[in-house]
Amino acid sequence: MARYTGPRCRLCRREGMKLFLKGDRCFSDKCAYERRSYVPGQHGQGRRMKESDYGIRLREKQRLRRIYGMQEGQFRGYFGKADRQKGVTGANLIVLLERRLDNAVYRLGLAESRAQARQLVRHGHITVNGRKVDIPSYLVKVGDAIQVKEKSRKMPAILQALEAVARRGVPEWLDLDADKMLGVVKAMPERTHVTIPIQEQYIVEFYSK
Ligand code: SF4
Repeated sequence: MARYTGPRCRLCRREGMKLFLKGDRCFSDKCAYERRSYVPGQHGQGRRMKESDYGIRLREKQRLRRIYGMQEGQFRGYFGKADRQKGVTGANLIVLLERRLDNAVYRLGLAESRAQARQLVRHGHITVNGRKVDIPSYLVKVGDAIQVKEKSRKMPAILQALEAVARRGVPEWLDLDADKMLGVVKAMPERTHVTIPIQEQYIVEFYSK
């Protein structure tokens, strides 16, 4: 299935929650979901049918998948990996997604959104432990030093993103030196570090049918 390239705000409206796909705009009064929090389309404001059990589980899966910008096959792959790990599958899934390099770049505030972070990684602007890594799905581990390449440190998009993270804050599993555009993974992310209101148990049930 091809990557979704349509309006991102439409996805938030479809999923019935803010997915924070557009950086600073999501925290402003320009947020489309704040203005029109109903499902897009001609009948979006009409009477809503009660969602089936399957529909509830599907929606939860779609929400998490869209937050991290995954395609279905890729997302299912993460689920399989999470399921094979010890511990709680739903929590494992979220931790795996958090450990992606593009997510860590976003969380550090080197990009305004995960989509922008993915592009920075793909275009070779990011190093891990001094070496260029252009694979967004690279899983970061404790001690990894994630940095913007010296030549890329004046990019307006990165400077703007760093301004925004000063307001948003960096999660406690990461440490940011904004002057050096350097982030260090202090600890593995945990489910409790991720505050998105997702009920991952529904996703486990969705795939376990
Ligand atoms: Fe979603 Fe952000 Fe658009 Fe609001 S501004 S609808 S949170 S992508």
